[in-house]
Amino acid sequence: MLDADFFRRWMAATATAVDREADHLTELDSAIGDADHGSNLQRGFTAVAAVLEKDAPATPGAVLTLAGRQLISTVGGASGPLYGTLLRRTGKALGEAAEVDRDRLARAFAEGVAAVGQLGGAQAGDKTMMDALLPAAEALGSSFRGAADAARAGAGATVPLQARKGRASYLGERSIGHQDPGATSAALLVEALAETAAD
Ligand code: ADP
Ligand code: MG
Ligand code: MG
Repeated sequence: MLDADFFRRWMAATATAVDREADHLTELDSAIGDADHGSNLQRGFTAVAAVLEKDAPATPGAVLTLAGRQLISTVGGASGPLYGTLLRRTGKALGEAAEVDRDRLARAFAEGVAAVGQLGGAQAGDKTMMDALLPAAEALGSSFRGAADAARAGAGATVPLQARKGRASYLGERSIGHQDPGATSAALLVEALAETAAD
């Protein structure tokens, strides 16, 4: 079973991964965006890790809703409200339970991903974080490792796509041939989940 401490460790592992990959994320965003995705998420997840260390919410749901609120208030770019909504809605769907199993997390995460789709209007194939999040949510019903692999494959599959949402869509056909930064960071989030579960 997954308790509040598990969810705090997941968020801390995400912050570590984002720190490590910040330059790469910004490089990807400089090709089809405004070169700030790495610094946006670094600022956001550093703040998330700090508030979770200070407050230590008692339930999985409270950990994720606090993390989501923190992202929304610290990240100015499109990814802040989108990741914030993902975590807040997933947390809300987990309710007040002190512990949840993977199956329950998978259902809650799918609700969170659906909320991101509602907020941003992106569907599969639009070359956004949804291209990693949707297959991850589906695969999380079977295993953590499968979800991480599906997210990474989804991020890689954004390379030949033309962006239809977000800044990259302004480039039209020139967005083709580059991996989407948000799909890449979404894969880091799900990889951090799988690593936390494997510990
Ligand atoms: P900004 O584009 O405001 O600078 P970031 O660089 O932090 O924000 O994040 C860009 C990423 O956000 C994109 O690579 C994409 O994955 C994601 N994104 C942008 N717009 C949307 C949207 N409408 N729906 C889903 N994801 C989106
Ligand atoms: Mg950007
Ligand atoms: Mg920006």
